Amino acid sequence: MSSEQQLNLFEDSNFNQKDLIPTDAKIPIPPGTYASMIELAQHCNQCHRCGLGDTRQNAVVGRGNLKAPIMVVGEAPGQNEDETGLPFVGKAGQLLDKILGSVNLDTEKDIYICNINKCRPPDNRVPTTGEMAACRPYLIEQIHLVDPKIILLTGATAVKGLTGDKRGITTIRGKWIEWEERLCMPIFHPSYLLRNSSREVGSPKWLMWQDIQAVRAQFDAIHNIVD
Ligand code: SF4
Repeated sequence: MSSEQQLNLFEDSNFNQKDLIPTDAKIPIPPGTYASMIELAQHCNQCHRCGLGDTRQNAVVGRGNLKAPIMVVGEAPGQNEDETGLPFVGKAGQLLDKILGSVNLDTEKDIYICNINKCRPPDNRVPTTGEMAACRPYLIEQIHLVDPKIILLTGATAVKGLTGDKRGITTIRGKWIEWEERLCMPIFHPSYLLRNSSREVGSPKWLMWQDIQAVRAQFDAIHNIVD
């Protein structure tokens, strides 16, 4: 059989480009590829678009309400998340739930939580630019599926991974960014707050309190417009 005939067979077969998504970061993920988060999670759990797939125990796709008005995006899973397959379940996750709860935002009802990268970087290092780029199309699909009105980006890596903005988190936290017609707010990562316990005016915890109140006010404003 000539190579041209082989190529024709390849094109005519039931071969589906979508099946190749988890194998290579060069395979695009067109908008609307996944009809559900379950389908997306199946690909993430078999994914090797970047090297992080080689060492993961579980891909960490997300938790919370699949139609939540607020999405929280973190950096990447840590050890607890890798073991459980759920994002933000360690001490930082418990603090995040408390912060959201302080303005009566329920992580099961009002929030969907996920990360830029679905697999744990070894030794909890920051994901590389290439690793973030390989995984970003999954996040874009998640945003399309959940369709949140507000996106909270926890830490500089999350901001950079989604929007490409490389500014430091202390410069941009608390400021609304419009991205793809959605309102995003960079906030401190809860693990940063765990390392900075002061509650004094101007401290990271105090600043987070200002930011989460601004988020609550925006959430109420959107609800009032919709209602
Ligand atoms: S981090 Fe993302 S791109 Fe990399 S292997 Fe995991 S799911 Fe695939």
